[in-house]
Amino acid sequence: MKFLSNIAGRFFKRKAPLTDGQSADQAFGGETRPHGKVVIPEAEHGIDRRRLDENANKVVYRLLDDGHEAYLVGGCIRDLLTGQRPKDFDVATGAHPEMAHELFRRSRLIGRRFKLLHVRFGREVIEVATFRAGHDTHPANEGGDHGRQSESGLILRDNVYGTLEEDALRRDFTVNALYYDLANHSVVDFANGYQDIKDKVIRMIGDPEERYREDPVRMLRAVRFAAKLEFDIEPATAAPIDELAPLLRDIAPARLFDESLKLFQSGHAERVYRLMQQHNLFGQLFPQAAASIRNPGNYPVEELLLNALRNTDRRIRQRKSVTPAFLYAALLWYPMQQRMDQLLKQNRMPPLQALHEAANEVIGQQVRSTAIPRRFSTPIREIWELQLRLPRRQGNRAERLMEHPRFRAAYDLLLLRENSGEDLGGLSQWWTDFQNANSVDRDSLQQHTDDDEPKRKPRRRRRPSRKRSNSGSQSNPEQQD
Ligand code: ATP
Ligand code: MG
Repeated sequence: MKFLSNIAGRFFKRKAPLTDGQSADQAFGGETRPHGKVVIPEAEHGIDRRRLDENANKVVYRLLDDGHEAYLVGGCIRDLLTGQRPKDFDVATGAHPEMAHELFRRSRLIGRRFKLLHVRFGREVIEVATFRAGHDTHPANEGGDHGRQSESGLILRDNVYGTLEEDALRRDFTVNALYYDLANHSVVDFANGYQDIKDKVIRMIGDPEERYREDPVRMLRAVRFAAKLEFDIEPATAAPIDELAPLLRDIAPARLFDESLKLFQSGHAERVYRLMQQHNLFGQLFPQAAASIRNPGNYPVEELLLNALRNTDRRIRQRKSVTPAFLYAALLWYPMQQRMDQLLKQNRMPPLQALHEAANEVIGQQVRSTAIPRRFSTPIREIWELQLRLPRRQGNRAERLMEHPRFRAAYDLLLLRENSGEDLGGLSQWWTDFQNANSVDRDSLQQHTDDDEPKRKPRRRRRPSRKRSNSGSQSNPEQQD
């Protein structure tokens, strides 16, 4: 283990360590500073005060009243400057977490690796982070176990407190390092983020390779913000990603699951996906899906994935809910299907058993990269299992299937499969008609189905044959159990 090096020190080659009371400007002496502190007045940045968050403002004012430095920071300022709606408002302060905790009745300290304060206002939570810096910067931090890095440079603990400027320089991208000062409504910029927003570039603060080694998740964040803001990733920031992408294997799968949702539920999932493929990131998070895309066999693997992502983007634009279970069920459908095909070829077993085995294997593999919680993996299995049941519609089965809690999601996956080019004989159209039909029409749809269903045992007396419905209710033989 080596201790965290000083963050500002990594950014600029510095001669002497920064001491308390000495400004960064003084410490850097004659060395070239790529940027200094730039204050952008309200008249210039033009952020509408009414778009700020009342509760976040309350937190900042309370901290200021108590004599601490405090700012709105990060994604919210970036989003306000780019005309987007901020997802949440974060606060950065000079007050230590325990100190800030005492100021807010409804607040809770969280995190070990990165200690934070959550201040609750009804359903809204404002995250308050203390300015961070490198371990060796402040004598107050010496002797403790506040900051830690692994041999490979990965940050294991990041609780070394510092100044506003140090806090700015330890953030990931320049566009994420802007502070809003409520005392005079200016924006404070140490990393040239304001200009990068104007130029539409995602630029890493400091040395990109070193910063990715500290936290490989920053590679995913680069593509997420580039997709969301429609910015370019600046060449030096993009360059190391391809080679360093495998470092994501060192990240806890639970954290990567959360990141996967941020990536694909951002409203820009299709763009995120293309950037992830371009930068060798998709296969790190979804090795099985990436392999299926490379070797799709007869399945429209990438088409289905793209359709699922476009669907998700559309739903988010319409402010409809999107469920991680559906997203993952679509993402892993063909890997599961291909494994199921193999199992059916190798062993004689009923399709449902093959599906269960394949599902176990595929989900079992996936959770090693992104830890899908059980509350999502159970519905994924159900959505898959329903793909085998949807072709079987005899008697009152169709009505019963519609009552299944996962019916809607399973029907959506069926639609996606057929729309992506899988030949299911118009099964999704049948289900569309069936759901839209009144009870008389349902009877008729079902009668046609009865004829199309393969019979388990030959019946003694055959009924007179009826014409097949146009909607095509042929079932896919592979899907029968
Ligand atoms: P959004 O909330 O829209 O996803 P955000 O930029 O606010 O984007 P958060 O994860 O909420 O992202 O983080 C808040 C801020 O904390 C970021 O803007 C950035 O300044 C800093 N930050 C977050 N994660 C990292 C990281 N892995 N490395 C360095 N700085 C980070
Ligand atoms: Mg945020």
